[in-house]
Amino acid sequence: MDKLLFTPGPLTTSMSVKEAMLHDYGSRDLFFINLVKEIRESLLTLGQVSKESGYEAVIMQGSGTFGVESVISSVIPQKGNLLILINGAYGERIARIAAIHKIPYQSLVFEENSVPDLEQTEELLSTGEFTHVVIVHCETTTGIFNPIESFGTLCKKYGVQYIVDSMSAFGAVPLDIAANHIDFLISSSNKCIEGVPGFSFILAKKQKLIACKGQADTLVLDLYAQWQGLENDGQFRFTPPVHALLAFKQALVEIETEGGVAGRSKRYQENFQVLKKGMAELGFSEYLTPELQGYIINTYHYPSHASFDFTIFYQKLNSRGFVIYPGKLSKANCFRIGNIGRIFPSDVENLLNAIKEVRLEMGF
Ligand SMILES: *Cc1c(COP(=O)(O)O)cnc(C)c1O
Repeated sequence: MDKLLFTPGPLTTSMSVKEAMLHDYGSRDLFFINLVKEIRESLLTLGQVSKESGYEAVIMQGSGTFGVESVISSVIPQKGNLLILINGAYGERIARIAAIHKIPYQSLVFEENSVPDLEQTEELLSTGEFTHVVIVHCETTTGIFNPIESFGTLCKKYGVQYIVDSMSAFGAVPLDIAANHIDFLISSSNKCIEGVPGFSFILAKKQKLIACKGQADTLVLDLYAQWQGLENDGQFRFTPPVHALLAFKQALVEIETEGGVAGRSKRYQENFQVLKKGMAELGFSEYLTPELQGYIINTYHYPSHASFDFTIFYQKLNSRGFVIYPGKLSKANCFRIGNIGRIFPSDVENLLNAIKEVRLEMGF
């Protein structure tokens, strides 16, 4: 038995998703080309949009960050100006990408245990100096849910383009891309859709995507060129992640069977409730206040007891078959437990029992 992953990704996948990879296809195979087409259509459906309503799905090889870098390096023109709303490590990463590509940008940084402030953002947007805004949907650093709907309304009001890193939320948090005025949304194969790692994908407003032509300062991450490649002959410009796509197609069948985004969201919320209750009973305290805590991943303070050592705690759980995740916070000593992937409330119960055992053993 593989260990269960209670992490932000890569995640535990179903046996059927893994088995879907037991085939080889050439990149020009008609079956494979059709598979890519179907996946792109399904992704739009999950975002409640379609080609007919003016949206496009682009698949980009690499992990999630490749998708983020593709968008940031392709979408903002040299005479543009990007406002980056930051309340965690993934927002910080976007600022690093913008800096590396010498994209004009300004960061607005908030505490990791708070959501970006609407009024401060509006103040900046009302100066007319910005052309694009980017925000992280679920900031996986803490598990906080950022109010992307309110920021979408703001972007619409000031006529700026809106980019959302929905890596750890897409597929498990109901979202209407068009209603929230999102121009570019980024997610990846190995998060809430429960595929294996290998690619990211971008859901884009077609009209805004067309405007990106010739803007990218990279060859492989050029979003427009990647889209054109897929549109022209249905093929990837460079070697496609064939097996990851085969797995993803099966993962899409399984999310559908579970009741789509609503069904997936329901199971993750059940995992979250079981974890939240159990951890409180075991005496762990949450880093975020309950109203900010999303159901994707939970952050807990280290117990203050002298006998607690995270490395030992982690290893003892690991040897029992449960993989949790270290913290990534700049100011507090925390660890994280994810509720996503092919895990069920009974798995969370088993994790809690293991934590109880380890707590006794370590004496905290
Ligand atoms: C997982 C994640 C990413 C991408 O990380 P990769 O390691 O490149 O897959 C980006 N943003 C958020 C919010 C994430 O959770």
